[in-house]
Amino acid sequence: MKEIGHWINGKLVAGTSGRFADVFNPATGEVQARVALASTAEMDAAVADAARAQIAWGATNPQRRARVMMEFVRLINRDMDKLAEALSAEHGKTFPDAKGDVQRGLEVIEFCIGAPHLLKGEFTDAAGPGIDMYSLRQPLGVAAGITPFNFPAMIPLWKMGPALSAGNAFILKPSERDPSVPLMLAALLQEAGLPDGVLQVINGDKESVDAILDNPTIQAVGFVGSTPIAEYIYSRGCANGKRVQCFGGAKNHMIIMPDADLDQAADALVGAGYGAAGERCMAISVAVPVGKATADALIEKLVPRIEKLKVGPWTAGNDVDYGPLVTGAALERVKGLITSGVEQGATLVMDGRNFQLQGYENGFFVGPTLFDNVTRDMEIYKQEIFGPVLSCMRADSYEEALSYAMDHEYGNGTAIFTRDGDTARDFAHRINIGMVGINVPIPVPLAYHTFGGWKKSGFGDLNQHGPDAFRFYTRTKTVTSRWPSGIKEGSAFNFKPMD
Ligand code: NAD
Repeated sequence: MKEIGHWINGKLVAGTSGRFADVFNPATGEVQARVALASTAEMDAAVADAARAQIAWGATNPQRRARVMMEFVRLINRDMDKLAEALSAEHGKTFPDAKGDVQRGLEVIEFCIGAPHLLKGEFTDAAGPGIDMYSLRQPLGVAAGITPFNFPAMIPLWKMGPALSAGNAFILKPSERDPSVPLMLAALLQEAGLPDGVLQVINGDKESVDAILDNPTIQAVGFVGSTPIAEYIYSRGCANGKRVQCFGGAKNHMIIMPDADLDQAADALVGAGYGAAGERCMAISVAVPVGKATADALIEKLVPRIEKLKVGPWTAGNDVDYGPLVTGAALERVKGLITSGVEQGATLVMDGRNFQLQGYENGFFVGPTLFDNVTRDMEIYKQEIFGPVLSCMRADSYEEALSYAMDHEYGNGTAIFTRDGDTARDFAHRINIGMVGINVPIPVPLAYHTFGGWKKSGFGDLNQHGPDAFRFYTRTKTVTSRWPSGIKEGSAFNFKPMD
């Protein structure tokens, strides 16, 4: 059995805790490797080494650090296919989608090449007589990131890129379900010139997460994952005096107005609802057509499109639309939620529970599932399903549709499809959700903007990537400096009154 360890002080090392987790091949259901789960002692030792390595890295001039990121970009592009294959093999997503996962992370590393500019402080000349005032952005020391299974390249890159290029050492605790790609990225960073010990990739579960939260050397923690864990990490990290940002789960609504182009909306819904088997925090899981005619027409357009979806393993070719769920536990949970939807009275238009693929009978596949007439009180509406399940919730008016999205506890992303600029503008202005699409179903901001949800989808202040990331991973020092004038007047040989 293949064993996956940690990346510590520039080397792949085996775990010493004696604890492991299974890593599955989601397409076949087989265990393909086991990953070491670090103990508190292993984490603490790695953090202490990182703190030592950070001193020289933090003192390296920002342009030299940026050059490491430039080379990292080249190496990721060089190894793009290798990274995407390893990603698909553990996560299960299709090969083109795995490349997208790497690409969206790579774009943040490209942004980090601008670190020297982003780290510049502010300066006020002559703030008083002989007084200048200036602010510096300095690294925090050691920062940590705890990341989810669903983007095993993108989210680690979102975290490590800004933290490292700002001069910090970084501890990455990736998801134990697909741990290989983060280790490959660490090796590429070493090849790009990152000094050993500055990035430590420590695999683990709750024990290593708690070790991060309780370690006094770690100054900041960035988390992405489910909301209950986000809340836990936010409160424990803050209680220990750390800077913490946590991004949680989602329930993303897409409103379809009667004036929308329904073919465009149906295409968008199928991609955003079923892509990556719905295992995206920006997936659209609720369609809200406004008016009965819109709803009926939309369902009529969705069904044939969904029937055509090709579900399969990533090895079956680039025309596969989506793959299996990540684990058997996820499969059981999603099937259970579909059953609850039926029991609570939703109309099951398409049922993916009995999906079977010859040769992959034990894979974690769920066929595309569509519900109509979903209501607020149903579990399939209240919970994040994180599977290929799209719910249609009918609204009589724009205001009713808006209220569904506004009242839901999650606030990650949302979208509206309309031809009316006035409605679109009103929606963008009033909605209490962090990322908004107008005729765009998955409005993931680009690297130079910031990414973050509201309500139970985001805890803390600053967003991920973009300029916010550099604010999160640095602290401001403000210097007031006075140099009295007249010091060049030379020696005085007579007594002068002091002034
Ligand atoms: P998860 O919460 O199960 O795990 C995330 C991380 O937390 C992993 O590294 C895991 O090892 C760790 N963890 C799990 N249980 C823990 C515990 N009890 N104590 C301490 N640490 C623990 O999430 P997941 O299943 O890997 O990822 C899917 C979730 O992530 C979904 O809810 C999705 O919406 C969310 N997500 C959010 C965003 C965003 O930016 N808002 C992006 C991607 C994914």
